[in-house]
Parts: sequence; structure tokens; C-alpha cells
Amino acid sequence: MLSRKQQLQYLEAMGIQAWTARHADHDAGAKQEPVVPEPPVAKVPVVNTSAPGVSIPGVFDGADVACLDWPALEARVSECRMCDLHSSRTQTVFGVGNHIADWLVIGEAPGHDEDQQGEPFVGRAGQLLNAMLQAVGLRRDQVYIANILKCRPPNNRDPKPEEVACCEPYLLRQIELIQPRLILAVGRIAAQNLLNTQTPIGKLRGEVHPFRDTGIPLIATYHPAYLLRSPLEKRKSWQDLQLALRTLREQDG
Ligand code: SF4
Repeated sequence: MLSRKQQLQYLEAMGIQAWTARHADHDAGAKQEPVVPEPPVAKVPVVNTSAPGVSIPGVFDGADVACLDWPALEARVSECRMCDLHSSRTQTVFGVGNHIADWLVIGEAPGHDEDQQGEPFVGRAGQLLNAMLQAVGLRRDQVYIANILKCRPPNNRDPKPEEVACCEPYLLRQIELIQPRLILAVGRIAAQNLLNTQTPIGKLRGEVHPFRDTGIPLIATYHPAYLLRSPLEKRKSWQDLQLALRTLREQDG
């Protein structure tokens, strides 16, 4: 578990200083007490979507992806040619992390660095995501990280709807296998596709959404790449992470 000092260091890495209200008897220039989050709570399954007869409806129509285990699913993705993106990729980017994670982080699609390394959220945006996770007491290997698309769109353009439709069964099978307690959708593309909406990310963040009919709470926040360009928005992403922690605590009653 992270010490209070370590958590504060990670908040600084995010570029955030979180302060509580100052005591009335403090001097005008006195330093205030920082707020640090509660550590993550123990895992309690929300919905057993992998139980017999339980699935995410309308997703695996005609596909046999729904019965694949982790190795078979990863192998299937690595050979996938279901959409045109297969022709321009260096390699597929399947996902990485803990197969029984409480937190599932879902981004948009691989970028240049991810396409080269075969892992989601590497490079500067990945480092910021790591700092965000560490700020709430999580190491990168304690969560699972995946993307809406497993292959890089050329020049990092937005995914096309048909590409998302082709690739979605893989992500949904990952969700079924993991059974996360919480989904953190990072960025507009991830949030809008997961929630089937065109609502701007600024309006999707700040509240808890049910992920379709699974009962899994989904919280949308800004993409780390956006936060690197717009550091003033980091405070809002920190608020979203605190909302995620509160949501998990509420699950425990
Ligand atoms: S983006 Fe998804 S559906 Fe398209 S080729 Fe890659 S793995 Fe297959």
C-alpha cells in the first residue's frame, strides 16, 4: 500500500495539488493539509457475466468470440483481419494487466508508440495514466488496460463506426472475462462508444453511468494525451478518480 508521502508525490506527478480548507486559526500564508484518497477496497464481484446463461446481449451475434478463453482470445486478435486496419498495423495491441482486476481502463486505440510496442498507453500519455492510477493507490499491473480498437488507425484518426463494430466483440469478451468492479473510460471516443452516445466528454464525466445492462459502473474522464495538452483539466480528472473510489466504496456498503 502506498504511503501518504508517496501518494502526494504521485499527485504532484499529475500536476495536481489538492488542499483542504484551512483551519481558521492558521496564519494567512500557512500551508494547508493535503487531501489524499482512501486506498482501494477489497474486490467484490458486481455481476457474474460469465456465469452460464449470462452474457451481454446483442454483442456476439453469430460470433464464437464469446466462448474464447484468454489465450485463445489473444491469439484470435493477433490474427484478426476483420477490418481494414489490419493492413496498416505493425501489430495488434490486445491489452495488458490483471485478469481479475477491479479497475478496467479503456482508451480509444493504439497510437504510434503503442503500435510499435504492442502495449496500450505507453509513451508520455501512458506515464501520465500511470501517475493517475498511482495517485489512487494503484500500480499499473493491478488494473487491466485495453482500447476500443486493437489496431492503430492511420495517422491517429478517429475510429470509424464499422471498425468499432468489428472490434467490439473482443473488448466485450475481455470485460466478461475480467468482470471488473468499475470501468474507467478515458477520452471522448472510449466514453461515447461504450455508452452509445454522442454527448460530449465534458458532460459525460463527473457522474456514474451503468455500462449497458451489465450493472458495471462506468466513469468517464479525460484522456491523458488531452491532459498533457490541457493541464488545467487535470483537476477534473482527479475529481473523476475520486468519484471512482467513492463508487467502489459504496459497492462495499
Ligand atoms: S481493429 Fe479490431 S477488428 Fe480491426 S483488424 Fe484490428 S483487431 Fe481486427
